[in-house]
Amino acid sequence: MEERTEVGERFEGSIGGSAFTGTGRPSRTFARGRVCAEDGCGTRLSIYNEGHYCSQHEPQAAPRLRGRKIA
Ligand SMILES: [Zn+2]
Repeated sequence: MEERTEVGERFEGSIGGSAFTGTGRPSRTFARGRVCAEDGCGTRLSIYNEGHYCSQHEPQAAPRLRGRKIA
């Protein structure tokens, strides 16, 4: 039983610390409140969006690709 307890504590410690990612960064997120870089577009970008454009203006992420929508 003691072993299971230790494993649980280590697991929680990994999530709370930097051992989980191993990169030193807490997580791969970006600044909040950013908006699309396209002129006239005020679409707010997700903190997980590493690009500068929204899904509609992102050059490498076509919103409509062969009728298949990835959302
Ligand atoms: Zn946009």
